[in-house]
Amino acid sequence: MSISRTIQLPDGAEIPALGQGTWWMGDDADLRHQEIEALRRGVELGLTVIDSAEMYGDGKSEALVGEAIAGCRESVFLVSKFLPNHAAGKELQQSLEQSLQRLNTDYLDLYLLHWRGHTPLQQTVQDLEQLCAEGVIKRWGVSNFDVCDMQELLACEGGENCQVNQVLYHLGSRGVEFDLKPFLVEHHIPLIAYSPLAQAGRLREEVLASDTLRQVADEHDADPFQIMLAWSIRDHHTLAIPKSANVVHVERNAKAGLIELSETQLQMLDQAFMPPSHKMPLDII
Ligand code: NDP
Repeated sequence: MSISRTIQLPDGAEIPALGQGTWWMGDDADLRHQEIEALRRGVELGLTVIDSAEMYGDGKSEALVGEAIAGCRESVFLVSKFLPNHAAGKELQQSLEQSLQRLNTDYLDLYLLHWRGHTPLQQTVQDLEQLCAEGVIKRWGVSNFDVCDMQELLACEGGENCQVNQVLYHLGSRGVEFDLKPFLVEHHIPLIAYSPLAQAGRLREEVLASDTLRQVADEHDADPFQIMLAWSIRDHHTLAIPKSANVVHVERNAKAGLIELSETQLQMLDQAFMPPSHKMPLDII
């Protein structure tokens, strides 16, 4: 199986609209084998975009990913993120070198500023462009940027080369639809939806308790998680990166890429999970 839905990045690269997250992976030695197996199964099924970060487990997630993709690096679209206090100069270079080492590769497909810090954006953009020129990253983007940050970024020299903005987005958290998502669509910058399954906890339980979500899932002979994923990637502009260390879940997540929600179903979901009617602060984890 391969994921039929794709998104196109501003530089023309086409990638699957579903990938795999890796936060919390690599932390527990007892889960290592299972996590590697899940990531590899995902890649086999077309979930080839793998998202990690230097922050995750202080590099343990990247090291696990490096092990999981050994032998199939070329089939993977590898994403990692650097911390805001490493957002320029020597710190950025060092962060990248360490990420590459842990991931056991000599380039990243996409490198993201994890969230905005105090480094001037122009400086970060300039240094990321330099890393692109050296071939050690293929492209760059940002994460947790709201509209005002995006406006400032696009006003920088080279800012137009930003390829994605990765933000929290799921059925229970739709605030970005008010202004950020339209802004990104207008500028042809795809959104990467993190925590597309609402991660865990009370909010997720509330989403899953919805009769409407259950009904739509039944209509597709699917489960509610699959509908959450199909919904998040419904617009050909969004890539979702569910994290799973469970092969059965990974297989279900991959199948979600084949589900097309009808207009009626989308309207039902809009009634159960209202889109925003006013500006909301960016939701973050
Ligand atoms: P998700 O919304 O992906 O939820 C992960 C949870 O859902 C896990 O407990 C997982 O358990 C479970 N799960 C996955 N698939 C299924 C399924 N089919 N059925 C039932 N349960 C399922 O949360 P994350 O916060 O991990 O977000 C995804 C990724 O986004 C992260 O891993 C990370 O890569 C990225 N991220 C980026 C952030 C940023 O600031 N840029 C912030 C947060 C996340 P199990 O493993 O048992 O399947």
